[in-house]
Amino acid sequence: MLPPNNRDDACRPPRSPAPRSPLAMTAHPIAVEEYRPEQEPYYHPVGDEVALFEAAAAGHIPLLLKGPTGCGKTRFVEHMAWRLHRPLVTVSCHDDLTASDLVGRYLVKGGEVVWVDGPLTRAVKVGAICYLDEIVEARKDTTVVIHPLADDRRYLTVEKTGQVHPAHPDFCLVISYNPGYQSALKELKVSTRQRFASLAFDYPAPAVEAAVVAHETGLDPARCDQLVRLAQMTRNLKEQGLEEGASTRLLVHCGRLMVAGIDPVRACETAIALTLTDDPEMVAAVAEMVAAVF
Ligand code: ADP
Repeated sequence: MLPPNNRDDACRPPRSPAPRSPLAMTAHPIAVEEYRPEQEPYYHPVGDEVALFEAAAAGHIPLLLKGPTGCGKTRFVEHMAWRLHRPLVTVSCHDDLTASDLVGRYLVKGGEVVWVDGPLTRAVKVGAICYLDEIVEARKDTTVVIHPLADDRRYLTVEKTGQVHPAHPDFCLVISYNPGYQSALKELKVSTRQRFASLAFDYPAPAVEAAVVAHETGLDPARCDQLVRLAQMTRNLKEQGLEEGASTRLLVHCGRLMVAGIDPVRACETAIALTLTDDPEMVAAVAEMVAAVF
């Protein structure tokens, strides 16, 4: 099996339609997670987050984005990479992800042992935005490597090679986590948190969310409003035991199914109800909401 930093699911490619430059595609043999948006990734601001990101990047302050899944954090970072003309390196953290996956490792290539930089090392060297998505999922040794990068020292120590890399002036560290469903065991350590400025994300306000769904799907505005109304109803089900209500991402999926000609009720069942829960009672509760809205 390939090591995690060679796996597509460890390092996500951009999900926005912005094409990648050929240079970014070929510069490294495993450059799947590194890209430079050429077209503006669509992002509808919800507050002053664009100005705050720009100020933090200029002041070398790392950022912590917190909020529920599917509410626009990743798209925001993609947009900021485009605005700031910096490459973006995204790593989706998971519980097998180690410091070596971020920093690099020795690999055997053509009978020779060669050092291959990991995504964090490449970002530090080229001055990219490094986005560590769901950082609390990663193994604890990853915090050891990000600490000196996330304070005034701004350097990366690569233990295995004995090298210390001062971060490029444009290097910018962004991490995200979802406080809603992370257990106390997976809380960020205070010593880690206190290196970051924090931006709280939530689902956009109804009019903005409807505009986002319309832009992303081409669905007609009245249907977008209905989808947002449905999403808000499911978000209220959290008190009744649903882990999380429908995210903006799920509304986008649902809208795309509708635009492709799927009946709205069936689209909601497929993209929302059955995705949110396996509990038959909860599925029925969402189905009632769908029937009330459509
Ligand atoms: P997160 O990183 O918070 O899990 P994403 O950034 O992947 O979520 O958002 C999921 C989808 O929702 C995006 O692909 C995009 O289609 C849409 N989206 C959510 N919020 C916004 C926004 N403010 N502007 C543009 N698109 C958004």
